[in-house]
Amino acid sequence: MPVRCFSCGKVIGHFYAVYKQKVAMGEDPQRALDQLGIERYCCRRMIMTHVDLIDDVLPYP
Ligand SMILES: [Zn+2]
Repeated sequence: MPVRCFSCGKVIGHFYAVYKQKVAMGEDPQRALDQLGIERYCCRRMIMTHVDLIDDVLPYP
């Protein structure tokens, strides 16, 4: 997950884990982002479109 939003530079890296946890607990993704204070579309896009690749890559040395 990039630390900053590519478009506006807002630091959002630390929000991703919280966002993922909220959604896993049944929270609506839109409301989760609202609660985190991520209002700009560019920042929301960064989190909503992020795909965790690390777990897919780890098994391969
Ligand atoms: Zn942004």
